Amino acid sequence: MTEQIGIIGGGIVGIAIARALTQRGMGEVTVVEKEHRVAMHQTGHNSGVVHAGLYYAPGSLKATLCARGRDLTRDFCLDKKLPYREVGKLVVALTAEELPALENIESRSLANKVPDLRRLNAEQIKEIEPHAAGVAALHSPHTAVVDYAAITEAMADDIRQAGGKILLGHEVTAIAQVSGKVHVTTTAAELVFDRLIVCAGLQSDLVAKFVGASPSPKILPFRGEYWALSAAKQHLVKGMIYPVPDPSFPFLGVHFTRGVYDDIHVGPNAVPALAREGYGWGTISLKDTLASLTWPGATTLAKQHWRMGAKEIAASLIKPLYFKEASRFIPELEMGDLTAKTAAGVRAQAWASDGSLLDDFAIDQVGPVTLLRNAPSPAATSAMSIAEHLIDHHVLARP
Ligand SMILES: Cc1cc2nc3c(=O)[nH]c(=O)nc-3n(C[C@H](O)[C@H](O)[C@H](O)COP(=O)(O)OP(=O)(O)OC[C@H]3O[C@@H](n4cnc5c(N)ncnc54)[C@H](O)[C@@H]3O)c2cc1C
Repeated sequence: MTEQIGIIGGGIVGIAIARALTQRGMGEVTVVEKEHRVAMHQTGHNSGVVHAGLYYAPGSLKATLCARGRDLTRDFCLDKKLPYREVGKLVVALTAEELPALENIESRSLANKVPDLRRLNAEQIKEIEPHAAGVAALHSPHTAVVDYAAITEAMADDIRQAGGKILLGHEVTAIAQVSGKVHVTTTAAELVFDRLIVCAGLQSDLVAKFVGASPSPKILPFRGEYWALSAAKQHLVKGMIYPVPDPSFPFLGVHFTRGVYDDIHVGPNAVPALAREGYGWGTISLKDTLASLTWPGATTLAKQHWRMGAKEIAASLIKPLYFKEASRFIPELEMGDLTAKTAAGVRAQAWASDGSLLDDFAIDQVGPVTLLRNAPSPAATSAMSIAEHLIDHHVLARP
């Protein structure tokens, strides 16, 4: 009999997995999504960058799946006539003190075979980005920008055309395993599957609890806020200008990105969100906030990162501080050039009970249920290769 496969989550990862399953003719596939559209959370609120694989620990899932995901994403966009623009990226060291960290990224990039990566001196930086500061930089010419929501919609069309179902407005509220089947209760229907794959992003730890999985890692929601650059100053940025990231922090730092529709955004920062879907300071969930504050790893994390956290929160609330950080990279920038805050995104960052933030993608298996427990950046870049990996190593490994 045909296997019934359920997928919770209509973000880019859940949709990519569903598409790959339908394309391989593996079972009857149903995606269950609580919102009334796909790509409503992280997938529709990100920087739109197709990462080339500069930062990731060689051999990690992030490193291998980012490289493959980049190629699959490019081919998909070309095939579907969706925009894919290789605007290129600079990672800029502003001072000599940042050079060892830049060299570390260069070694990782070489190990990860980032295509056509080049080391630049101060003069060469100006040839790529005439308005950028910096003593040295890495240039990745094939780092690209796309519209991840449009990609997800296009993949959803492929699923429907191949006979798969996407149930929108179905929030999963309970899961039970009965006689080898997985019973999924949603706000709109009762569903029964032979196998379930959970890609619930910001809610992935809550859904994991429904199947009796370990409560660790928990999701720590980190909001990333962006400012728009004024129309008059769009010439200041040709592609992407990134800082050398702090290696102890899982985020890349505020950067400048020329988006796929030629809009330039500055950001994202990383501030703790006061709700899982807390897109602004005004959205507060006492339940989510208390759960974070009382998590066993909270004290360890606070001790390690309080200085960085306080700096990020201050810059979120006080525009001159955000501007001060950004203008280090483009000295000609003026405060008025950051015109308005644009749509923020909230990252689903997995957080272990010992206080550490998980770096790599993480997948757990509980009986017939596969749980994607950590899929932060570059998971949009890697969605199609995460799909291949999850099917080959979890679905096919457990017939
Ligand atoms: C600010 C920001 C910038 C980023 N920039 C980049 C970038 O430039 N490049 C890159 O590669 N990555 C980037 N990322 C990361 C990337 O966006 C995510 O890794 C990726 O979108 C994860 O996809 P997902 O499908 O796992 O999660 P999501 O897109 O969050 O999808 C999860 C889905 O599950 C649904 N769901 C949750 N609970 C339930 C339930 N109980 N019942 C039914 N449905 C449920 C949600 O509604 C949601 O639609 C960025 C992320 C953020 C936040």
